[in-house]
Amino acid sequence: MPDKTLPEILIVGAGYAGSVVARELADAGKRVRVIDKRPHIAGNAFDELDSHGVLVHRYGPHIFHTNAERIWEWLSKFTEWRAYEHRVRGVVDGREYPFPINRDTLNALYGLDLDEAGAEAFFERVREPREPVRSSEDVVLNSVGRDLYEKFFLHYTRKQWGLDPSELKAGVAARIPVRTNTDDRYFTDTFQAMPKFGYAKMFEAILDHPNIAVEFDVDFEDLRKRGGFAHTVYTGPIDAYFAHCHGALPYRSLRFEHEHLPSVDTYQSVGTVNYPNDHAYTRITEFKHLTGQQHAGTSIVREYPQADGDPYYPIPRTENELLFKRYEAMAENERDVTFVGRLAQYRYYNMDQVVGAALAAVRRLLD
Ligand code: FAD
Repeated sequence: MPDKTLPEILIVGAGYAGSVVARELADAGKRVRVIDKRPHIAGNAFDELDSHGVLVHRYGPHIFHTNAERIWEWLSKFTEWRAYEHRVRGVVDGREYPFPINRDTLNALYGLDLDEAGAEAFFERVREPREPVRSSEDVVLNSVGRDLYEKFFLHYTRKQWGLDPSELKAGVAARIPVRTNTDDRYFTDTFQAMPKFGYAKMFEAILDHPNIAVEFDVDFEDLRKRGGFAHTVYTGPIDAYFAHCHGALPYRSLRFEHEHLPSVDTYQSVGTVNYPNDHAYTRITEFKHLTGQQHAGTSIVREYPQADGDPYYPIPRTENELLFKRYEAMAENERDVTFVGRLAQYRYYNMDQVVGAALAAVRRLLD
């Protein structure tokens, strides 16, 4: 039983940021209360069995990958893993090609037979050198030239972000490599795997501690006036914490269209197929590839980017970062509150990076 006389720390959000901080504080002997306005743990990584018994990710496909052994080991205390290397294909003019672009993509698309040196020379010939490289358009034109840019990136980016690549910071496109070899894995990190029994089960284990109480369907706004907490760890949107006093931080949202296909063993060749130039959705993911689940049917999700809705992606533009800095300056004056996570730090974090940020936040708190 937790010691009820201990002062309680409030944690807003039961995603990676909130749950990792909660566990570390609980292990250090603190009493914590985790609240989430949603009816479940795991934040955007939440997975569940759909009504047909297929394990799906409610908020879109989540693939765990990291180069950080420390983070891998931390999570491995709470789950076993299933080795999984994600693969993606991009559909151009009705045909599927490996994505990120690699040598096989070039050879298949242009009917070539390039070796590694040939692929290097190809990129050198078609690239449009840019100096300086500021936008996502600069990044892609600078490395693969206009034709590949238009086939794989331009329209996908417009759909995904509602912006032209020239309006997005270089970092967005720089996340996607271009290869002269035939490696068709989406990620090349040392550790790539899926939690063997799913993300929600891993989060259950993280939060399973006598010093941790978890409450669902509770909004921070319902508790903030009441006060009485020794400290608050806030993982929600930073602009909402300050009542949007400088204006709303822009986010890109998504609508997820889940579908079950009975009696279809495999719907598509790999985990995710991108549709850069066709349809209103950006991509289709088939979950059985990710989870390895055996089932007579299969479940897929289509992602439709949209302006309104839940805040999923901070939009990496200079003016948005400047707006964030104004909120960050206010956050520094909130001595009893720690801001951590994708929404609180307005950063395009992957899961492993959020774990890293949360562990660093706990260290500062405990010091
Ligand atoms: P969240 O998971 O968003 O958790 C924050 C929680 O706070 C939420 O549950 C929310 O309900 C709660 N909350 C917010 N405000 C309040 C409030 N006022 N009161 C109470 N509760 C509140 N990363 C990868 O590494 N690999 C991937 O393949 C990958 N795929 C992704 C696909 C999509 C479509 C998206 C959107 C993200 C993807 N990510 C991926 C990123 C990953 O989802 C995030 O890095 C991670 O979930 C962030 O964790 P978090 O705790 O910061 O935020």
